[in-house]
Amino acid sequence: MIEAREQSTMAIDLTRADALMRLGSLTDPSLDDLTRALQMRVALNQINAPALAVDLDGTVLDANDATASLAIERDDLRGRPLWAPSLWHITDADAVLAPLIESCLDGRSSSCTIEIGALKPCPLRIEITPIFDPSRTGRQHSVSLLLAEMHSLTDRQETDAIIAATAQKLAAAEDIFRAVAEYTSDLVCLHESDGTFTYVSPSVKRLLDLDANAAVGSHPVDLAHSDTRSALVQALQDASRRGSESTRFRHRLRHRNGSYRWFDTAITPIRNADGVLQQLQSSSRAITKQRETEQSLIKKAFHDELTGLPNKALLIDRMTQAFAASERTQQPIGVLLIDLDGFKTTNDSLGHETGVTALTKVAERLTAIVRPGDTLARIDSDEFVMMCAGTDGARGATVVARRIIDAFEQPFVLEGREVHLGVSIGIATAVGDNDPTRVLDNADTAMFEAKHQGRGHFAIHNEDDQNLALERLRTEEALRLAVENNELRLHYQPELDLESNCIVGFEALVRWQRPGGQLIHPDDFIPLAEESGLIVDIGKWVIAEACRQAATWRVHRTPDQEPVRIWVNLSARQLGDPDLLNYVQSAIDDAGITTDEICLEITESALMGDAETATEQLDELRRLGISLGIDDFGIGWSQFGYLQRLPLDVLKIDRSFVSGLGTEKSATTIVAAIIDLAHALGLIVIAEGVETRQQLDVLTELDCDQALGFYFSQPQSPEAFDEVLTPLT
Ligand code: C2E
Ligand code: CA
Ligand code: CA
Repeated sequence: MIEAREQSTMAIDLTRADALMRLGSLTDPSLDDLTRALQMRVALNQINAPALAVDLDGTVLDANDATASLAIERDDLRGRPLWAPSLWHITDADAVLAPLIESCLDGRSSSCTIEIGALKPCPLRIEITPIFDPSRTGRQHSVSLLLAEMHSLTDRQETDAIIAATAQKLAAAEDIFRAVAEYTSDLVCLHESDGTFTYVSPSVKRLLDLDANAAVGSHPVDLAHSDTRSALVQALQDASRRGSESTRFRHRLRHRNGSYRWFDTAITPIRNADGVLQQLQSSSRAITKQRETEQSLIKKAFHDELTGLPNKALLIDRMTQAFAASERTQQPIGVLLIDLDGFKTTNDSLGHETGVTALTKVAERLTAIVRPGDTLARIDSDEFVMMCAGTDGARGATVVARRIIDAFEQPFVLEGREVHLGVSIGIATAVGDNDPTRVLDNADTAMFEAKHQGRGHFAIHNEDDQNLALERLRTEEALRLAVENNELRLHYQPELDLESNCIVGFEALVRWQRPGGQLIHPDDFIPLAEESGLIVDIGKWVIAEACRQAATWRVHRTPDQEPVRIWVNLSARQLGDPDLLNYVQSAIDDAGITTDEICLEITESALMGDAETATEQLDELRRLGISLGIDDFGIGWSQFGYLQRLPLDVLKIDRSFVSGLGTEKSATTIVAAIIDLAHALGLIVIAEGVETRQQLDVLTELDCDQALGFYFSQPQSPEAFDEVLTPLT
């Protein structure tokens, strides 16, 4: 069977070889044209496949009978070029066939696949073989004729031939790839499927100052910038997973000098005929310059050229983001529209150039105020916007506004002259998703309101917020002046010893006498004083004043009488003030009293802050000889451990427990327990807020030491007690 096939193959070859010889001998000059034409047809017909005899210039001389199977009209074709459009399906057959003929003239056979048939395409492989003139020597110069054989692509043998040709092409393609890679200015690489370099083009020397050969075997991730490493890893994974598509991305690679360069890289998978990934190919174009240009364009598009600050477009973008974040957190965003007062006049009188300098200096001054995370933008010639996230709404924004107004109190030095530039500020606040333009409009409206009030003012858009914040601000301002203007007063509430019925002490309670005569109670201004820090100054004044009062009352007492003790309330802030000891001591010294005449009381909650500092301060005060009491006991903290740790003398039961005495059983139980506990710890117990005889009786029964409350006396101005400061009978 095998033998038979080999024989038949041989037979075919012999016939074809014979045909080629016959065609070669057609150059014999003794032959007349007709004989030559007949012999050509006989030789062509010896060939099984459809075949054409072609002149060296590509003119078809004749076709064999087999060409009929391809619907070739022999007579139509003769005398016309091989690439005649009527023969082929493609319009530019000359581009394919002319080069084939060209290479045959060099003595080599060549082939290609092409679709024949003007109407219906029929793929075939055309193989052109040079026919040599036996009478001449030298391969190249003896080509006298060409034989074009056409093989239909359905034939198995022919398919194999195509695969072989394709393989050849692939080898050539790799050569071309390398030629291109060596030549190009881009970085061209081949990688194993995991990304490891198997080939790196020499351009890597110029681009990253690395040696191409040395780079082979390393992995691109080793060169990647940490910011873009994940993009590279992702791209390598994508490329190896995808069919044949390229994956494109931008990333940074390290130059030998340690700097990083930007590249626009495409990674393409290379697969075999079965679709199995063979390797990856990457080409990277250096885009550092392009990126710089892009970045500067972006900067230009979103920044104000004069000051370098974000412009309105960027501000709106940041506002949108901030509002979206606030939608989640419900934290208010404060937007301050800052307008320079009378800038146009300054600009006109000092000239445009100076105006420009002024604006840059204004921007610098504002930049110094803006906190990290907040945005300062210039949105118009003399209009700036500060957006503060994480502020306490209008309240926080007013603090910022005031800081800005204060900052503009300092003059600017322009061309050697001092120029005052004030600002008017409009504040708008927003919580959650809001339209940035609307919020800016609100701030603008508020800004006009501020201008209306005169220069160097601010106004808040939201009316509720505005009233609250303004109220608070006014009170705070007034309270700041209260100490200076001597508007604070101390009222005193007597403390009675329940056994002797004598006044043994007073609690000093501060009041604020407003200029109009109105007396403000501490609950209405102490919290504000605590928040703003004004409590430290107020507290200093209270201690000094209480000491002075103790000295005054001294003169009302006979020498053998015990001194009255004045209890002063100490706030948490004061407890944390390192100066506390100093000013307590100097108040005592200045008044000429002794340390046992002044006592300090603190609430449980004041101890909850910095417990360590509090303990240290209390220890120091105690060392001075000052008695210490715990105020409002029972409502602050549920842990009593501190009662043992701290150097306390007195425990004051909160009036909420006292008010239930005699009417609520539980109140009596609690107060009894507190008194027992205090006594067990060696503390004196004082009951606050005694309003009824019944409460007093229960307290006496429970062995409470002292008491104070409206039942005995309201807090009163000190003069009210001048007379009663003799032992009660
Ligand atoms: P506190 O230390 O608990 O002072 C006792 C408060 O209860 C006083 O209110 C007093 O008038 C009131 N009071 C006294 N007896 C009775 C009573 O029988 N019935 C009722 N219903 N109330 C009674 P005041 O003077 O308005 O003081 C309020 C709070 O302000 C004080 O509470 C204290 O926490 C704070 N405070 C007052 N003066 C100062 C001060 O100089 N420094 C500091 N840090 N806080 C002060
Ligand atoms: Ca108190
Ligand atoms: Ca109290």
